[in-house]
Amino acid sequence: MILPILRHGADALHTPAAAVPEMTPAIDRLIDDMIQTMYAAPGIGLAATQVGVPLSIFVVDVSVGRNAADLMVFINPEFVEREGMQLEEEGCLSLPGFNATVARPSRAVLKGMNRGGEEQVVEATGLLARAFQHEMDHLDGCVFVDRLRGLQKDLIVRRIKKLARAGKW
Ligand SMILES: [Zn+2]
Repeated sequence: MILPILRHGADALHTPAAAVPEMTPAIDRLIDDMIQTMYAAPGIGLAATQVGVPLSIFVVDVSVGRNAADLMVFINPEFVEREGMQLEEEGCLSLPGFNATVARPSRAVLKGMNRGGEEQVVEATGLLARAFQHEMDHLDGCVFVDRLRGLQKDLIVRRIKKLARAGKW
C-alpha cells in the first residue's frame, strides 16, 4: 500500500522516533508499505517518521529499484563511525520541489537490525553515506532544511509558508 508522505511542518515529521521493541507482522507490513511508497515517489530513502509512524525504521535504495541488492532496511539504526565531509545538492520527499546543498559525512558506518531481525553493519561512502545521514536525521525529527543556515534556510521556509497559506502544501 502506498502511504501518504508527510510534508515539512507536520508535527510527526519533527518528532524523534522511538526504538522498535520487537518485530511483529504489523511492522513487517509497514516496511513493505514503506518500500512501495519510496519506489512510487520515486525516492532513494524513506523514514517511518515521514509516513507518520514514530518508530526507528528506514528503507533506502540508491538504485531506486534497479538493483535488488541496493535495497536495505534498517531497524533501530545507530552510527558506528562517521568521517569526512561532502557537499552535494539534496532533496527530500517531505519537501517536494526544494533542493539545497547540505554538508554530510563522506563515509559512514551504520549498525542496525535488518527486517529478519539480524544485526547488520554497513559501510557507506558517497551517495549512500549521504542517504544514511539524511534518514538518520528523519529519525531524530530533523529535516534537511534544519541543517541549513541564514539566507538559504530563510528562503525555503518563507516559500513553504507562502505555499501553505495558498493551500498548496
Ligand atoms: Zn527526507
